[in-house]
Amino acid sequence: MKFLISFFLRKIPRRYLQLFSHVALRIVAIFYRGNQVECPVCESQFRKFLPYGRKSRSNALCPKCLSLERHRLIWIYLKRKTDFFTKKATMLHVAPELCFMSRFEALENLEYITADIESPLAKVKMDIHQIPFEENSVDIIFCNHVLEHVDDDLKALSEMRRVLRPGGWAILQVPFFYPLPKTTFEDTSITDPKEREKEFGQDDHVRMYGEDYGSRLASSGFHVVEERLIDELSEEEKKRYALPAKEIIFKVIK
Ligand SMILES: [Zn+2]
Repeated sequence: MKFLISFFLRKIPRRYLQLFSHVALRIVAIFYRGNQVECPVCESQFRKFLPYGRKSRSNALCPKCLSLERHRLIWIYLKRKTDFFTKKATMLHVAPELCFMSRFEALENLEYITADIESPLAKVKMDIHQIPFEENSVDIIFCNHVLEHVDDDLKALSEMRRVLRPGGWAILQVPFFYPLPKTTFEDTSITDPKEREKEFGQDDHVRMYGEDYGSRLASSGFHVVEERLIDELSEEEKKRYALPAKEIIFKVIK
């Protein structure tokens, strides 16, 4: 199973994977019946989660909604620490995660807009370097695991800041590779996928974020809040929901 999953992840472009994996995983879920772990996103219980990732880590992917460790942490964060589920807001969800989409769509308090440069799942086709919205028009942005792919992340950040209303906020997660470099490393001359994988952690990444990620966000004019919810949760909860070991949630406020 591990081999099979990591094979498909390497061979099938992610946008198709998201479309077709859903049905297959429904069938897989039957073999993961149990109640040892629980997904807070889809409120389902399983024996364990599925392995996931190019280097295949165990107990990661929810067979029902496709949430990963970080998605489950964000969900718990939104539930416990924000008024996301009740306050009226316009939300822009960039490169929308499948596990969140239908659930956010169903929220009556949200005017929910999905956007992506290529995903057929998103409503608006958009390049994040040039967001096709007016300034001060959005209350919430989610843009997770995107900035490490884009040519000019500082331009993308300034665009997100432009369209956010004053007081609006965004969640901007990026992958970190440990040991974390002190400063973010990028080099536009590195274009070979193999070289990129070596230097930036994945063959389609264009930079490797370092300890300075928070200050990079702040340099774009945002107030940055590094939410360490994970440190407040009990070992029992971390295990029950299979949460990431040390994920900081990067929330920025305009
Ligand atoms: Zn789930």
